[in-house]
Amino acid sequence: MYEHEDPAPAAPSRYDLLVVGSANADLVVGVDRRPGPGETVLGSDLVVHPGGKGANQAVAAARLGARTALLARVGDDAHGRLLRDSQREAGVDTGGVLVGGAPTGVALITVDPSGDNSIVVSPGANARLTPEDIQGAGALIAAARVVSVQLEIPLDTVAATARSLRPGTRLVLNPSPPAPLPDEVLAACDPLVVNEHEARFILGVSAGGTPEAWAQGLTALGPRSVVITLGAEGALVADTRGDGAVHVPSPRVDAVDTTGAGDAFTAALAWRLGLGEALAEAAAFAVRVGAAAVTKEGAQASFPTAEEVAAL
Ligand code: ATP
Repeated sequence: MYEHEDPAPAAPSRYDLLVVGSANADLVVGVDRRPGPGETVLGSDLVVHPGGKGANQAVAAARLGARTALLARVGDDAHGRLLRDSQREAGVDTGGVLVGGAPTGVALITVDPSGDNSIVVSPGANARLTPEDIQGAGALIAAARVVSVQLEIPLDTVAATARSLRPGTRLVLNPSPPAPLPDEVLAACDPLVVNEHEARFILGVSAGGTPEAWAQGLTALGPRSVVITLGAEGALVADTRGDGAVHVPSPRVDAVDTTGAGDAFTAALAWRLGLGEALAEAAAFAVRVGAAAVTKEGAQASFPTAEEVAAL
């Protein structure tokens, strides 16, 4: 049960980037201390932010100037309207945002004065984005140079997205939250974008190793290229068509809040790959976008414009 809220985008128009992923309302309450089992505590006024990795990436890319579309599912409710409005405000084409089937996904977040948080995610409509929805969005997918996916939607929907790509359309996958990936999905990634935690999960190694060794291990699993983000250290990129791993340093900045840095990085990388840049070149731009994002509070609120990246 769903309907298109906006008219479907015209097939001939090309998008630099199509993001297939989640859209959540982040419901944030500050507390003096987080409640224990059976306990009730009073908190601050509720603040609601648009979030979810798919929605974040789409906003990050559009703010940089990419022609961006989002394929996602939200509920027929106030949170769904908030998410669609925030996407449109950023310049994202929301014709692929499906409506209905379950309430909009929410993240219930309590934050204590030290900044530690507890989060409960109700995936809601994100869990109802189905392989059939992907099949129904063939024209949208065919109109994109690059398709970026994360794992806050069902894995069989991610696999259906990988299968739906035409030759020449690039798949960028950030496996977050980490989950075992089918071989067909790994083989379609170009690149697989992971942080250290996700790299270790996929490789099944809990300790030790170097980013270079992880990159080698990950490329052996099938992706055509791999990018490992390293926080303040930037990123390591490895392309099976090139000569080994290359370290791309991040600019030094005063980090205020790293929330959403990975989404900003991945969106920027995917956009620049779609413009035809080589992996190391695209990553050199993406580390600047990630670095700019950590200089401001919040996720979507912290994503920079192209001018802000240039000024960094
Ligand atoms: P998150 O989960 O917080 O969104 P992540 O773990 O997926 O992030 P990171 O490796 O922390 O990803 O950050 C992504 C990119 O953001 C880095 O490659 C880097 O370019 C930039 N970045 C993150 N933290 C910093 C920092 N402290 N200083 C400069 N750049 C940073």
